[in-house]
Amino acid sequence: MMMKTYIPTIGLEIHAELKTATKMFCACANAPFTSEPNANVCPICMGHPGTLPVINKKAVESVLRVGTAIGATLADFTEFDRKNYFYPDIPKGYQLSQYKYPLVSGGEVSGVQITRVHLEEDTASSVHDSQDERGGQSDYSLVDFNRAGVPLMELVTEPVIHSAEQAGDFGRELQLLLRTLGVSEANMEKGEMRVEVNISVASEEDTAAKKFGTKVEVKNLNSFKAAEKAIEYETKRHIQAIENGETIVQETRGWDDGKGSTYSQRKKEDSHDYRYFPDPDLPKLKISEIPEFSADNLRKSLPELPNEKRERYAKLGLKPVEIHIYVHNPEVADFFEAAGASVLASNYIASDLLGLIKKKHGEGKEALIAELPFGPKEFASLIQMIEGKKVSSRGAKDILAVMFDEGGEPMKIAETRDLLQKSDEGAIKKIADEVVAENPVAVEEYKKGKQASLMFLVGQGMKKSKGSANPEMLKAALLAILA
Ligand code: ADP
Ligand code: MG
Ligand code: ZN
Repeated sequence: MMMKTYIPTIGLEIHAELKTATKMFCACANAPFTSEPNANVCPICMGHPGTLPVINKKAVESVLRVGTAIGATLADFTEFDRKNYFYPDIPKGYQLSQYKYPLVSGGEVSGVQITRVHLEEDTASSVHDSQDERGGQSDYSLVDFNRAGVPLMELVTEPVIHSAEQAGDFGRELQLLLRTLGVSEANMEKGEMRVEVNISVASEEDTAAKKFGTKVEVKNLNSFKAAEKAIEYETKRHIQAIENGETIVQETRGWDDGKGSTYSQRKKEDSHDYRYFPDPDLPKLKISEIPEFSADNLRKSLPELPNEKRERYAKLGLKPVEIHIYVHNPEVADFFEAAGASVLASNYIASDLLGLIKKKHGEGKEALIAELPFGPKEFASLIQMIEGKKVSSRGAKDILAVMFDEGGEPMKIAETRDLLQKSDEGAIKKIADEVVAENPVAVEEYKKGKQASLMFLVGQGMKKSKGSANPEMLKAALLAILA
């Protein structure tokens, strides 16, 4: 029997900690990684009775900027709701979140439609341990409230993703956008960005008709790779269950990275009734009445967005790999812009300069471009020397290597090391004569019509001149002899 084609349908829920100075509703430092536990706490974020929360304006602004960047609808009216549940990591017994009136609705990232983006507060971090300091068994949990009340953005996508790869691409693009906007560090490993995967599987026909299967939610994903693997794992598990005539139950599952599999955590029946209701201690917000949050001001506050940058660089004629480098490495993009932003400069940055950095410092150290012993100005001079044919490309590479190690002016380096391109006809003719005499086989092949042999001879001449000969003149001299 032919197996049916099954398609996974995926919707993501993504949380990101916002980079503000203070917490969401109090003046405590937003510093969840402070090593001393419970250092950044106060009666407000500890939920003491009689305290009054105050809305963090910067956090609201951050979410509105995200909404503007993704082409979403910004709320005119918004409020905060209490999401009630009991757990040691929420001191108030409820989390302040947004239910009916999210700050942002709609929009799109990487072709994935966004349902909503709302603002809430993070929970405390729990440390579960079964080993006490003296080495005895004691099974206890510790709670660190430094993270409690940190501004947290939640973005929910429509169920429109249909593969692990597409989910990964979307997540990485959203991460890039949050970083470009400067609203979040968005490191998955640090929990600054957290992805939850909702996934269901149905036959190709049912999926096309939007008749999706029962979904499960997968949590504990601490990298995009893990999210992709979990999607692949769940897709297979669902298909197998469907083929075996079993029913998929709606549940929350955890991801075990070591085992590369998911496990059941909580069934739908145990799901909470959060009894949401508007927080009576916080004011309702009329966004349109807050002048800083006018659509115009928000738009003006945006930096060049990744897609805009991609488009501008593509128009400039840069290669896709180069564009990728600049979009993901702001330090490299800054260097490129300061060095004149030409196609030639880009070639030398992407292959030669980053090559030198990689060779010395290893993978992923592109940001070190900002700490070289020379700056974009000196680099631009080198590019001008290449454009003006004062140095050959080979000479330029040698000069760049010296600049990389010691810094300095490219022209001075070229002069002291005799790397300026020779355009002296006599000297070049002499090199051409020698090359022809030393390479009778290539000369013979060229005369029989093999064009590549001419390039070989030019290469030999360039080598002989240590890269200092003007290649066009050398080629002309060779042609004159071989004619
Ligand atoms: P719930 O009420 O269970 O939280 P929501 O409707 O709020 O469900 O959706 C939560 C997430 O699940 C969203 O990202 C949405 O796109 C996704 N989702 C909803 N239905 C499905 C489905 N059948 N398959 C996959 N993802 C789904
Ligand atoms: Mg939900
Ligand atoms: Zn506080």
